Parts: sequence; structure tokens; C-alpha cells
Amino acid sequence: MAETNIEQQRARHYTLFTDLMPEIAGRLSWSRAQIEAHKTRAFRDLLLHVKARSPWHARRVAHLDPSTATAADLARLPTMNKGDLMENWDEIVTIPGASRHEAEQSLRNMTDQFYIWGDNVLIASGGTGGRPGLFLYDWSASAIMWASMARGFIAALAPLAAGGTDALQHIRIASIAAEKSAHGSYVMSRIFSNPKNPTHRFSAWRSIDELIPELNAIRPHFLGAYPSLIPALVAAAKAQELKIEPRVIYFGAEHLPEASRRAACEAWPGADVLTCWGTSEGGGTFACPCGDGFHVSEDLVVIEPVDAAGAPVAPGQRSSGIYITNLFNKALPIIRYFIDDIFEMDDRPCACGSAYQKVRQVHGRSLEMFRYGEISVHPATLELAVLEQPSILEYQIRQTPRGAHLVYRSKGNVDAARLSSKMRQAFLSYGLQEPEIAIEKIALLERTAAGKLKHYVPLAH
Ligand SMILES: [Zn+2]
Repeated sequence: MAETNIEQQRARHYTLFTDLMPEIAGRLSWSRAQIEAHKTRAFRDLLLHVKARSPWHARRVAHLDPSTATAADLARLPTMNKGDLMENWDEIVTIPGASRHEAEQSLRNMTDQFYIWGDNVLIASGGTGGRPGLFLYDWSASAIMWASMARGFIAALAPLAAGGTDALQHIRIASIAAEKSAHGSYVMSRIFSNPKNPTHRFSAWRSIDELIPELNAIRPHFLGAYPSLIPALVAAAKAQELKIEPRVIYFGAEHLPEASRRAACEAWPGADVLTCWGTSEGGGTFACPCGDGFHVSEDLVVIEPVDAAGAPVAPGQRSSGIYITNLFNKALPIIRYFIDDIFEMDDRPCACGSAYQKVRQVHGRSLEMFRYGEISVHPATLELAVLEQPSILEYQIRQTPRGAHLVYRSKGNVDAARLSSKMRQAFLSYGLQEPEIAIEKIALLERTAAGKLKHYVPLAH
């Protein structure tokens, strides 16, 4: 009985998503002036809301006037992090009667439904940075978050449908992602799967060999997967085992190395290979149809790239992290919240014509840096040596006291001497003398609960 009600609730929620889609997708054609005007309105609404409903935020924004403030005033507000959110959850949340304790209790009992306190949606993020985060979205904000990411695929999918924003409703979608969990990507894709044309969902924990017959049978128009699955998918396509011709391949939720993107483009020349960056704190971006980056959903969030001292970082430079402000979710407001993802913005006009801020690349996370005394090595530099070995299907680079230990799974020959020499050169370029490199082939690499593969494992400091 309860199960039926949840099915009905999901169906209502999906209907809201499809109703909102034309408006959210229509915003993609906005000019800079339209984006800025909307951002100002949304920021003022947020200020009014937290002043009335969120005691913790109310104290922190007390000096701003909601009738005159603009997003530029964010710089005058204190920052917050996941620890602040979790410790002050009950004073931040604006849903009457909601508490972190009850959210945590419910999470333990939730298996395949995530509604709480009526129509609100609860999601949990992984424990990067120490502890899991608990996020609460109101009914419309959860639909808006999903629509904000989905709109990035409309243009590429339009030829398949009659065109327009309903393209996503009629196509065959397959997704290789999280196991059944409270992880945002699972929860949201579960809710916003068309009841009349459900998404075919596979766990990233399963081996690609096992998934191939099922993917071949479905022949998805849209395939979503983690970037860490690219080498295995490409190898299967080259071996003529995987026979699919998707219109769009979307790689998300992990860092997408340029070499992997190119390999996917070569394996499926008829597909648009797209990516974007999203977070449990507010979604955040949509795919650029050109494929080589993505755009900030500036109608919904503000992203400030900052250096280690919290000062703004210019486009073209790598940040140490970002502050994100969620302008659309009123249930659990997030204002200037630190995330350690390394952003590189682009301020040149994008070839796709979008007026939204372009992100050239997100280069993994600051917390993943390998530190050897005064020397900091970005493991993505070591990864370049791995990515040029087409036989390597999965890998993990683990920091050791004086170098790195690479473990990998492969199909075919790997040039270990070249691999080792390239990794050594990468270390030397940072000034790390006599680096110690170990390379080991293994049979199985563990994925996280969300099905992601941790590519970089720094030593605990
Ligand atoms: Zn673009």
C-alpha cells in the first residue's frame, strides 16, 4: 500500500519535472543581462527567506539589505563548510519540525524511497573530507536541480524526438552509476525516471563484460557512466563486443581526463560525448554542447573559484576550491559553502553561444594532492602516463612516502617500463628527487558505495 503511494508521489514529481523543463531549458538562451537580473532577484529572495526562517543564516546575513543586495555582496558574507552545515543543521534547515537526528534515523531505514517530512527529498553525500553530508531539497528544488542538468542534453537529443524539451521522455536511457543508496545521483535518477519509459539502471560495481549483453539489447540513445568506466567501454567497443550507437554519452560525477574523452569520441564518432560537474550541495552546471567543458547554472547557483586563502581566482588559473551558493533550494540553504574541487574557468565567449560562465575543466580535488614535505604533486600529472596505455582498464594511484604505487587491471600488454619512466619524469618535474615507483597488476579494484572509483589515494596526513 505504502509502495503504491510512493510510486504515485514519484509520478507526480516526474510530472513537475517535465512541466518545469521548458522554462528551465528556455533560460539557456538568456543574455548576460537577463542572467544577472535573475541572479539578483533570486539572491534577494534567498536573503528574505533565511532572515525569516533560518536562524543560523539570519545572524550571518544580518548586515545585508534584501531590497538592495546583489550577488556581489556575497563577498561580504562569511563562508561555511560541511562541518558547519552538519553541526548547525537544525538551525539552518527551514522545514518546520525537521531535525538532523530524525534525518539520520530515517536514512538508516530508507531503501528505495527518500521522501521525508512530506514532499522533501533527503540525500547523503560521500565522506570526502571526513564525514558524510546530509542534504534536504524541497519538492520543486529537487525537480529544478534535475532539470538544470538535463537541459544540457536537449540540443543533442532533439533530432531523435519531435524536437523540443520532451526529447528526454521518449528516448532509451541507460545509466551505469551508483548502487541503490542515498547518494544524490541514485536518489534523483530514481525519482526522475519516466514511469512510462524507465531508465535502465546498472551498478558500476558490475563488470563491463557482464553488462555488455544487456546494453546491446537495450541499444540506448543516451548512455550515462562514470569516466573511470571509459577504458573498459572503449575496449569492448573496439573488440566489437559492445555494439551500441548512442546519440549522447554522458560522463559525470568524476573527473574526466581529456585523453579519456578523446578515446570515447573516437570509439563512438556518431555520439556527442558530454560532461558536466554536479554536487549534492546544488547541482551546479550543465553540459556544453561543444563537449569540451560545461557552463555554470548561474540562474541557480553562484560559484566563486578561490585560492587557498579564499581570495578570488581569475579565469585561466586553477583554484584551490570554490564557494557555492545555492539560490533555488529553500529547504536547507547553502551560502558560500567551501568545496575543494579545483576549478579552471574560461572567460572567452563559448563556441556554443551560451552567455553562461564556462568551466574549462575541474581538475579533481585539492584534498587529493600528494604532498611530500614542501612539494605538492597533482596526481593527474602521474595519471597521464597511465592514460596513454590503452590496455589499462581501471587503475588507482596510491601515494607512498617517497613516490607512488600504481595498481591496475588490464586486458592485454602494458608497457611497464614506459609507464614507470613517465611517472618518474612527472615527479622530477615537480622537483621530487629519486621518486620510488611501484607498479602492480591486480584482478579487482574496489569501488566506493556510490560505485565510483577513487583514482588518487593520498597518504593520510
Ligand atoms: Zn558552451
